[in-house]
Amino acid sequence: MGQSRPLPEVIIDVLSLEGALLERTGNGSLEFVVPPSLSETLGIPEHGKLSFAYDSLDEIAISATYESEFFRSVDRLFSGRGKMAKAVYFSQLPHIEKISKWVSEKIALSNATFRLQKVENRRIAYALIFFKYVALSDEKREGIFSLLVNEQNLSTFALDGNLMTFWEDLKEPEEILIGSEVISKALHAGFSAASFIVKEEFEPFIKSLERRLNRDIRRVFEYYETLKAEIQKTFVKKFPIGKDSSEEQNGERKKILSGKLDAVEGEKRYKIQDLVSKYALNIRIEPVCIIEIETESLAFWVEIKRRLSSRAFSLTYNPLLKKVDSLPCEGCFYPRGTYYICDEKLHILCAACFRKCPGCGRQYCSACHPKGCPRCKN
Ligand SMILES: [Zn+2]
Ligand SMILES: [Zn+2]
Ligand SMILES: [Zn+2]
Repeated sequence: MGQSRPLPEVIIDVLSLEGALLERTGNGSLEFVVPPSLSETLGIPEHGKLSFAYDSLDEIAISATYESEFFRSVDRLFSGRGKMAKAVYFSQLPHIEKISKWVSEKIALSNATFRLQKVENRRIAYALIFFKYVALSDEKREGIFSLLVNEQNLSTFALDGNLMTFWEDLKEPEEILIGSEVISKALHAGFSAASFIVKEEFEPFIKSLERRLNRDIRRVFEYYETLKAEIQKTFVKKFPIGKDSSEEQNGERKKILSGKLDAVEGEKRYKIQDLVSKYALNIRIEPVCIIEIETESLAFWVEIKRRLSSRAFSLTYNPLLKKVDSLPCEGCFYPRGTYYICDEKLHILCAACFRKCPGCGRQYCSACHPKGCPRCKN
């Protein structure tokens, strides 16, 4: 998985924020020293070793795989606080003029115009959400990845290890200025983006599953069809259905033969259904923890104009990633392609969400109509 990060790295991040010291040892395990309170919460000694291998031979090390007791106890770390932690980040803001120029030049809307109105300093919060996924089919795959969600405008960003340089500069907050009401919206946006990320990353795997399923179905199909042909051939040889037999005898024989063939057909269908469930892919995504990061940012207020309506929207400079946040897609929160603005509420949409209805061919907004085309109801 391109965007997911190795479990040891995530554990280092999460536990260091709680005051632990961790160091990698040669064989992929981690040596740790944790404060007494953390040792108590996690049910581990204050000093020891964590092993991430499923077949670890190291008997002293504590198993820290996804299925381990330890991994579940990390969950406990956040439970008292609803799986949430708070942090602050002291930002260094760039030159306003330079960034304003960038905003005016780089933002492109396919069916609307916009104008930069004002720039202001603003305290904003990002939700850094760690997601865990488990995918079950004929094999099991699992992993962790993280997303950064701007809580004000719901712009999302999938992080990989290299981008987490801001991690070391996160500080315990002395006071919290932003309320937590927006977090559920951020979590919703994060979930939507996470499901697209996992879907995208699993695409090659899904293709291979389909290939294997089709191959196996073809084999089963051919086997039972050959079997049916064989049965028919032997039956006809043994009991020829011909002119010299009576009408009654012929009818009886046909019935026996079709009974035999139906039984084989039934077994074939059962086998195929069995294969379909064997290769079915079941993916579960769940947030492991959320860290709300407060920081000082620059907000670029733009007026979006579509026909006779307009809407004020604030784009923000992201001090953590040191670049302007991309526009969100208010349909899927994982924008792909160019941006559009919807007619009704001036939602910002990506090309995938401002789509043509397959029924009536008209475009509709999937943020206004999440259930599908308002005309065809599909
Ligand atoms: Zn979208
Ligand atoms: Zn339609
Ligand atoms: Zn809309």
